[in-house]
Amino acid sequence: MFLTTTTQVILSTSLMSLFAATIKRNSLKFFSAPIAKQPVHARAMHIQSIPMWEGTGNNYAYLVTDDKSKDSVIIDPANPSEVLPVLKERTESGNIKLSKIINTHHHHDHAGGNVEILKHFPLPIIGGKDCDKVTTTPSHNSTFTIGDSIKVTALHTPCHTQDSICFLFEDGSDKAVFTGDTLFIGGCGRFFEGNAKEMHKALNEILASLPDDTRVYPGHEYTKGNVRFAKKVLDNDAIRKLDEYSQANKETQGKFTIGDEKQHNVFMRVNDPNIQALVGQEDPVEVMKALRGMKDRS
Ligand SMILES: [Zn+2]
Repeated sequence: MFLTTTTQVILSTSLMSLFAATIKRNSLKFFSAPIAKQPVHARAMHIQSIPMWEGTGNNYAYLVTDDKSKDSVIIDPANPSEVLPVLKERTESGNIKLSKIINTHHHHDHAGGNVEILKHFPLPIIGGKDCDKVTTTPSHNSTFTIGDSIKVTALHTPCHTQDSICFLFEDGSDKAVFTGDTLFIGGCGRFFEGNAKEMHKALNEILASLPDDTRVYPGHEYTKGNVRFAKKVLDNDAIRKLDEYSQANKETQGKFTIGDEKQHNVFMRVNDPNIQALVGQEDPVEVMKALRGMKDRS
């Protein structure tokens, strides 16, 4: 009897905490629902994120597949020990036909896996001119296709590196941009090989001109740190929402759009009077320079 009662108490206590946890999880989800709207039609463009160096670099490789033809590309497969098992499993099971390697820029944590990947998948490499073993560097605004339905446009965005290229993938109305270390959710890359004028052009002319519903897939999961900085610079609803979302979700890639970035990314708000007042500059390039300097010192 005693045992039964204790068991019942334990059971009901666990059930209650499970119930409470479920409510908590659901309410978090409710308050921090992704802002990006998913199209209602069945998507043919399938994007699989492959996290790499979790806890240190927090990089992402992306496997993009045209579901109809299975034609696929792998973007920035920098750490072969984490990427190759996925590629092998998916190719051997007949789920994908890998046709290209794509690199967003030459840094080791993006293009450093090329030599090893080529040993297993001897494929052309599309990327910036300084990427290891690159086959083709597409010119700015040039296009190629994956399968029958995905159109890819190369967008040159030199600054983080001079060979940085963002890749816009379009499948009908479904749009995704792979931004490497140029644009992060709520932030941007360091100006290693370029200057504020170039980053202003990359973010606020080239990427800002993409349709607002283009989903953003950056090269790293840096959102929490970016929000921490954004909150010091500006207080708006979009930054508060991004803060909530990044606290509740480990991964933020593909959950926000170019339209969202224009609201919560301070580097895309160089014309915001509050930011201009804070940095004491009005010229957008000077504001960009001041913001990057503050972020680098933060
Ligand atoms: Zn980089």
